[in-house]
Amino acid sequence: MTEQNRPQAETIEAEIRIGSESVRLSARISNDPVHLHEMLPLFQHLTNKVVEIGIKEAEAKGMRISCRSGCGACCSQLVPISEAEGIALSDLIGAMPTAGQTEIRARFSRNMAALRQAGLLENLDRAVLDNDRERLRAIGIDYFKLNMPCPFLENQSCSIHPYRPLSCREFLVASDPLHCARSDPERVESVVLPKRISPIVYTMSHQKKQPGKGFLPLTQLLTREPSLREGQPSPEPAVDLLKRFLEKLAG
Ligand code: SF4
Repeated sequence: MTEQNRPQAETIEAEIRIGSESVRLSARISNDPVHLHEMLPLFQHLTNKVVEIGIKEAEAKGMRISCRSGCGACCSQLVPISEAEGIALSDLIGAMPTAGQTEIRARFSRNMAALRQAGLLENLDRAVLDNDRERLRAIGIDYFKLNMPCPFLENQSCSIHPYRPLSCREFLVASDPLHCARSDPERVESVVLPKRISPIVYTMSHQKKQPGKGFLPLTQLLTREPSLREGQPSPEPAVDLLKRFLEKLAG
């Protein structure tokens, strides 16, 4: 089918196996070209569904999920976000009222200054560039010791909850929140989800001109923003992006 002959929208139907459940996806999707970050509401919705199934499965095994609203015990960790989420979150900050925006930007700057001062920045950049999981885990522990709450954390709650990163949604524990608060990896009992959407979105949003593998630490969001926007790939029909995503999800 040539580009001119494509219908304005297509109905995409898919049956997705997620752990013990089959999830039916039926969506009328436009063929208009979009950037990947414009597809994030769909990826967030699917992530919520995966988490819902993951919780059911964990509870069936006798685990009790301890994550609760108002518990920000894990929100001082090194959080990875996709490049697509980097653009969407920068837009979100840019749309905030001036006072709130100034405060959030100042918190990001403070966190970056602390990271630099602790001598972690260069190592972190290298580990992200190489996608070196072992080093990222080790840096994650040092990062946590700096005690830098996420700039979006307000009164122990996520101030951008509906728009929070996929990796924040996917992090669930069945252990005492104290172990998250002390970043005690040996005692944190994470819930293993039947699928993870975030790595698919990292791969899909990887910009060829960007270093790394399509993700960046949330804390570096504002310093990386100009290059993320500059290197953004051309928009593609939303249907094509969704089909690519579903292939990767099934794979
Ligand atoms: S974005 Fe929200 S949920 Fe994620 S670390 Fe920050 S405050 Fe916590």
